[in-house]
Amino acid sequence: MARTLFEKVWDAHAVRRLPNGQTQLYVGLHLIHEVTSPQAFDELKLRGWRVAAPDRTFATVDHIVPTRSQARPFADLMAETMTAALERNCREYGIPLFDLASGAQGIVHVIGPELGLTQPGMTICCGDSHTSTHGAFGAIAFGIGTSQVRDVLASQTLAVSPLKVRRIDVTGALGHGVYAKDVILSIIGRLGVNGGTGYAYEYGGDAIDRMSMDERMTICNMSIEGGARIGYVNPDETTVAYLRGRRFAPAAETFDRAVAWWRSLASDPGAAYGDRVTLRGEDIEPTVTWGITPGQSIGVSGRIPVPAETEAAQRSGVEEAVSFMGWSAGQPIAGTPINVAFLGSCTNGRLSDLREAARIVRGHKVAAQVRAIVVPGSQAVGVAAEREGLDEIFREAGFDWRGAGCSMCLAMNPDRLDGREICASSSNRNFKGRQGSPTGRTLLMSPAMVAAAAITGVVTDVRAWETRA
Ligand code: SF4
Repeated sequence: MARTLFEKVWDAHAVRRLPNGQTQLYVGLHLIHEVTSPQAFDELKLRGWRVAAPDRTFATVDHIVPTRSQARPFADLMAETMTAALERNCREYGIPLFDLASGAQGIVHVIGPELGLTQPGMTICCGDSHTSTHGAFGAIAFGIGTSQVRDVLASQTLAVSPLKVRRIDVTGALGHGVYAKDVILSIIGRLGVNGGTGYAYEYGGDAIDRMSMDERMTICNMSIEGGARIGYVNPDETTVAYLRGRRFAPAAETFDRAVAWWRSLASDPGAAYGDRVTLRGEDIEPTVTWGITPGQSIGVSGRIPVPAETEAAQRSGVEEAVSFMGWSAGQPIAGTPINVAFLGSCTNGRLSDLREAARIVRGHKVAAQVRAIVVPGSQAVGVAAEREGLDEIFREAGFDWRGAGCSMCLAMNPDRLDGREICASSSNRNFKGRQGSPTGRTLLMSPAMVAAAAITGVVTDVRAWETRA
């Protein structure tokens, strides 16, 4: 019977059906970090349990690490305490840790793929919502809470409710200046932030097929912002080429066998889907969020919605967002002044993102009123960017070049907005307070759009920028 990749991977990892209708799934890879693991380890210790599969558990520090000075001990006591606790727990339970001294530290969803830990056909968990990123490889990957981190540490399994699969095709070709970020913001804008509830999203179509792994990761990363717990792309030649030779990918003699299995996991022709949605790549514009959820977005040539003209079901949400953001209803989004430009995060902090932003920035200066920072997604991304001279391009333009970490994506470290500042951000969430100030305002957009906004000081259509530069 024709099956989707989701069904094949799910069935291969199902331990048993539980009386409550959930399935106990075996977890192939458990990624942990300093913020959601301490309480889980404390509970393990209390009960005298051991870690079931330390060889399938990998740790890094990313959420709270400072990015300006990463010398130990950290100036922030909380950051130092959490990092030291993770180091202690990893030592005690024999878990490999990619710490700041390792050269392989970085955001958990950046280092998993770049180390080759993330592979097609895996079940992957991490105590961070954006674990859906790893689905770009054809894995079933989802974020979990701290009590589930404990469960996976203790049993290497997890109770999960079954999902339907929605196939999302992006057909045709993307226009010049349109990126993966614009595609996923458009998908969420169309289906809504709760539209994916109960679904895994399978992405396909010509535009997705042509994307690099970095771009596919950007798409899958934000699946959770559309309410889908999981997002994935069927493995293909792009996936195989990315993984070949990576540190934890199968070694030479087993790689070909692995590839044969990975290929067999792709959804079968004729597989049944719970729903199907198609977007035309040609219709997608550079996209910017104007509100307080990732679903409140418009094309850069668009205008802030007028609450009275929106559907009744959405009106109060639109009113709240327009009021919080301080907009005049109907004003164009292009030309909106910004105070901060943030390039980084597990959505758009990879080498290809920094290359694209540097291409826009080269030879220009950051606008006088803008504070601009670049935070590579991992130490490896930072080193590769420096080898290409990208750090110099950013520094000469007036950007701060920082160490790897989550940084201003969630502002658990000193990288944060002040007061009512408006931030052009390549991250994934624009909730109230997400970037550290309860009244701060976040505009999500592609790295190229962040770069253009940093230079002009206002939201700028990168398509016009490219003509101008
Ligand atoms: S960059 Fe943001 S979303 Fe990604 S892992 Fe860090 S905090 Fe989570």
